[in-house]
Amino acid sequence: MPHHKEVANLLAGYRLPPKIPFGVELAPVMYRADFSGGRWQPGGLVPFGPVAVNPAATALQFAQQAFEGMKAYRSSDDRPMLFRPNLNWQRFAKSAARLRMPEVPASLFAEALSAVASGLSKVIPGGRGQSLYLRPTMFGLDPHFAVKGSDNFVFLLLASPSDAYYADPIRIMVERTNCRAASGGTGAEKVGGNYAASLLANENCVAHGFDQSLWLDPSTRKNIEELSAMNFMAIIDGALHTPALSGSLLDGVTRGSLLSIARQMSMQTAERVMPVDELLDDIRRGRCEELFACGTGAIVAPIGTIGEVDGTKFELPVVGQVSLRLRDALLDIQEGKIPDPFGWTIDASDREALCEYISG
Ligand SMILES: *Cc1c(COP(=O)(O)O)cnc(C)c1O
Repeated sequence: MPHHKEVANLLAGYRLPPKIPFGVELAPVMYRADFSGGRWQPGGLVPFGPVAVNPAATALQFAQQAFEGMKAYRSSDDRPMLFRPNLNWQRFAKSAARLRMPEVPASLFAEALSAVASGLSKVIPGGRGQSLYLRPTMFGLDPHFAVKGSDNFVFLLLASPSDAYYADPIRIMVERTNCRAASGGTGAEKVGGNYAASLLANENCVAHGFDQSLWLDPSTRKNIEELSAMNFMAIIDGALHTPALSGSLLDGVTRGSLLSIARQMSMQTAERVMPVDELLDDIRRGRCEELFACGTGAIVAPIGTIGEVDGTKFELPVVGQVSLRLRDALLDIQEGKIPDPFGWTIDASDREALCEYISG
């Protein structure tokens, strides 16, 4: 790639702005690799900037696009540490396959992560909950209106030095009209189209005094699935409950990790069908003490209020007691504050070790 010098200059001259709200500041470099002629071409770091996309490209016309969200944390000895990147790689491949896109091989995924996280390691913010948010993205480039996929794709790894997400407890509204994903659709994949389907409902719930939609299952509209970008958890009679993977909700890395951490803390856990009306009943009767959402961006976001479009609201009696304990335990591992008992963290600067870790 002809960008070595420009990339080196951009990295050398880059300083963090005084404020880095989640996902706003974009790093001055990104990784790019292109898929053409049936294979991935050599990639590399390039200056961050617009990518030429034909307006008739399948990415824009048919939402042939998938992404991931992950974080590099700065360890106490200043290494860029990734958290379970093997799971993001696997999920990215699953999302790509569902949208008829090629797999990004583990070696390419590792190279991109290593190049970006190492290049930016000096500007990974090191405060509690701060990180370098990483956004692998892939989309189809071929321009045509025939409904078929592309043969040419671009894979990008974008980076955003970020503060932790959501300071205040969030208010969620049960979404009983729209669905974000269909049964047999793409709800279990991380694709932009799912988000497009969620935007209007989210705006509607803001207009009703809430922050985010709580989605129900698309078949019966009775059972809780998740939020638009986070999984859902409840503390009921002291146990951690979360909706079982239904095929239309996302198998979050944070969700799975918190379930493991909770079990390690000797908490009972249950992945099960969670009827929303039963949950509201459990809140009314005082059995459900606490609700929270979880995902890579927010880590853990306590929920203070759950309600309905008609204005009915339930305040949770406890906000953040168990959830913030779980958040701390997870962050301690991610930030390398305690020895990692699960083998979940890996230094991104060693590309070969990272590749081995990812391909498992
Ligand atoms: C990314 C995402 C999550 C959270 O997954 P993590 O792997 O924990 O970041 C949950 N729900 C949806 C719809 C998502 O896109």
